[in-house]
Formats: sequence, structure tokens, C-alpha cells
Amino acid sequence: MKTRQSKSAEPPQRARGSVPELWQGIAPESWQDWRWQLSHRLNTVDDFAQIVRLTPNEIEGLSAPGHFRVDVTPYFASLMDADDPNCPIRRQIIPTAQELVPFSAEMVDSLSEDAHSPVPGLVHRYPDRVLMLVTTQCASYCRYCTRSRIVGDSSVQFSRRDYDRQIEYIAQNSQIRDVLLSGGDPLTIPQRVLEDLLRRLRAIPHLEIIRIGSRVPVFLPQRITPELVEMLRQFHPLWMNVHFNHPKEITAEVSVALARLADAGIPLGCQSVLLAGVNDCPNVMKELCHKLVMNRVRPYYLYQCDLVHGAGHFRTPVATGIEIMEALRGHTSGYAIPTYVIDAPGGGGKVPVMPNYVISQSADKVVVRNYEGYISAYTQPEQYTRHDPKQCPACQARALENKETGQQGVSALLAGEKLSLVPEGFTQTHERLAQMKTVALEGDAVQLNGRVAATFAASAANGNGNGDF
Ligand SMILES: *Cc1c(COP(=O)(O)O)cnc(C)c1O
Repeated sequence: MKTRQSKSAEPPQRARGSVPELWQGIAPESWQDWRWQLSHRLNTVDDFAQIVRLTPNEIEGLSAPGHFRVDVTPYFASLMDADDPNCPIRRQIIPTAQELVPFSAEMVDSLSEDAHSPVPGLVHRYPDRVLMLVTTQCASYCRYCTRSRIVGDSSVQFSRRDYDRQIEYIAQNSQIRDVLLSGGDPLTIPQRVLEDLLRRLRAIPHLEIIRIGSRVPVFLPQRITPELVEMLRQFHPLWMNVHFNHPKEITAEVSVALARLADAGIPLGCQSVLLAGVNDCPNVMKELCHKLVMNRVRPYYLYQCDLVHGAGHFRTPVATGIEIMEALRGHTSGYAIPTYVIDAPGGGGKVPVMPNYVISQSADKVVVRNYEGYISAYTQPEQYTRHDPKQCPACQARALENKETGQQGVSALLAGEKLSLVPEGFTQTHERLAQMKTVALEGDAVQLNGRVAATFAASAANGNGNGDF
């Protein structure tokens, strides 16, 4: 690294693989070598001061004792604007003083992942799929990391024994048909270790799909080598979700990496996090989504920022996300539109949020509005023989194998399998009310309150409880 780059608003335009001006002393082979990139990551005030004009705010963030790990590949650092502290690349990777300020709603483990871990590193929240954390390490570290409680700490690593227990759990639970490898970043572990994991997972007969969640194609596109892709493609159906937040992240290098993955038949999705000052703009998000689909990446989720320490200054109101969704639907290809979700605090899982398109309804009409504000009535059919689950082979087969209680959710209310979903603590309260009602009956004074309490208590006692996620 030599002198600081001259002022420019755009990241330097250069041919793929060529060495940026700042690293002119470095051989092109080194720059293109992912191992070189990993072993030359930037992490100190001095490192960053050589390539950007650091602000006092950033120097304070970088110097704070005990801050969340900083490490950035030279490649990704080279995309930063040297003179603009609001650069969306810079904001994602250089800490600021704001990161140190706690906010009132923050939680250590906002998604209650630890509480849903039957074995270390495995999160089993949904009936049919699991999240498998295979490493705590990443190619570079995002300031708003949702797993900063474990990620980045090189002393906390998953062992061979942890992997064995994770795989054993999946093998023993036949309802698991989908496993999602995450971390940390699964593409940072040694290739032979990843290959071994994938091979052992593929050997489990009931496992239908394997997914990898990664930011390596963004932080370290050099790692997506033909050899890595050849290894991955042995384990189809294999899907991959990549984490992009801003159109500036899609460079010539990244396009090559994505094309390699897509050419290997790996369906690509994108998970973005809505971040104040980075992508909380409908036009920035639209440009990102367009660039993604041009690279054969389907926008999958847009996440509301989690209630995680260090991320307070990145949070936006939910209204911002709804406004972005309003600006996308109808205005661009459906393929370019992600689902906006809040990952519900307390372990509720992902909840989709969007503008309202159903304006009103009666027995025979549904009134809908489109993106332009055009309002029309859809006439519902007069004759419709409702699908009968009791006559339907698919529903009957499903009912037999549906051993997990409490996760049928609202769909069970619509299917008539349940009359109510009961919140935590409900049963105890209403059993007490039912007892009061019994006393009232004995006294020959039936009261309305008593009857209502009895109804609630009866439905609670019928095993409709779904209090705990
Ligand atoms: C996000 C997530 C999944 C996968 O959810 P999809 O909606 O199927 O992508 C699975 N398990 C956990 C714990 C998750 O957080």
C-alpha cells in the first residue's frame, strides 16, 4: 500500500483482476489469489488510514477496546470511497463510535437461536428445516452482524465432534428435508472439510435440499474458483444465498464468480439487510435488484435489521421497508422483488411484511388496488366446492406424518383442525376462571362471565395451545 488515492466519487473502474492503484507493488497473481487476500486483511487504524481519509468517528470506532472484530479483504476495501465517510461500502465494514452505543431494545440473542439449538451450532426452529452453523469465521466482518455474539471469535470454533452431533441429529429426525449451512461463512472453511460435510449430509436419505448462505462471493470473489465450484456441484440439489446490500458490490470480479456458480447449476438467491444510510432508498434497492437478476441472482429476502448490539444506528423504521416494497412491486419484474421480512424477536422466525393490496371484501367481491392506485373488484365464484382434506390423499398422508404439534399455526385454523391458538400463560388463567364458574354454577347463579371463561378453558384444554415458538 502506498499513497492515498485521488478524490473520486465512484469506486475505481478497472479491468477484472487488475491490481488497484493503491496496491501497485503487489503482483497481479497475488491480488487474484484468495489466500493472499485473506492473509492481507485490513484491521487497524493504520491499515485503513493508508487508503481512506478516516474521520474521528471511525478512528474512535476502530480504537475502542473490545469492539466487534474488524477484518476486511484488500479487494473489498478497494471499493471504498476514500473521501466519503458515508460511502455504503465503508459503512458496512469500518466501525464508528455509534456502534459502541447500546440502544434500549437490543438483545444478546435477538432471534433466540441458542434456545432453539438441540446440539451446539444447530438451530431447529421450523419443523422441516435446520440452520447449521459450521464456522464462526468470515472473509470480512459486517458491522451489523446478527450473530456477533459468536462470530469473529477465533477461540470459538466448531469441532469435528460438533459436526458429528449436528449430522447425527439431522439423520435421526426424518422430518428435516432442508439444511441451511451458515455461520460465519461456510465458504471460508477448508475445502476438504466442507466437501466432507456435504458428502455426509447428502448421504442422509430424507434430506432433499442443501443450501449455503455466504458472503464470500461479495468479500472474496477470488475464492469462487473452478475447483471449488466443481466440488460443490457434486451435491445437487444445492442452492446458495449470497448477501448483497448495495449495487456497488457487484463488480466485474463478482459477476465472474456468480456466473461460475450459476453455470454449475446452483440456483442463486440474495439476502439483503435494510440498513440506514446504505440501502434505505427505493432507487438504490431497485438498482441492486436489477443488477442481481442480470447476474442470475434472484432477490430472496430483504431483512429488517435485527435488534443486535452495535447495529442500532443501522436500524430504520419498518415503514422504510414497506415504502421500498411499494416502489418495487409493479414497477419492476417480479423476479427482481424480494420478500421483506422481520425476523421476529424471541425466535418467532421470519414474518413477511408488505403494503396492503386488498382494500375491502364482501361475500362475492374482493376489492384490490394495484401499484398505480387503480382499484378494481374481483368477483368470487358463486359455486365452489371446497377442497375436502378428508377426501384428499395428499392431505391424508400429511396428517399421518404430522407428528409435530403446535406448528400447524394459522393454517390449522383455516383448515378447521383447530378452533383457536392460545398464547403462553393463557391456560392457567382460564382454568382458574373455569373453577370460579363451577363455583358459580353450584351456587345456581350462572353468569355470562362464567360462560365465556368456560368456553375459553374448554378450548385451551382441548390441546390447542401453541404458546411457545
Ligand atoms: C432463516 C432460517 C431458516 C430458513 O428459512 P426460509 O424461510 O426457509 O429461508 C431456517 N432456520 C432458521 C433458524 C432460520 O433463521
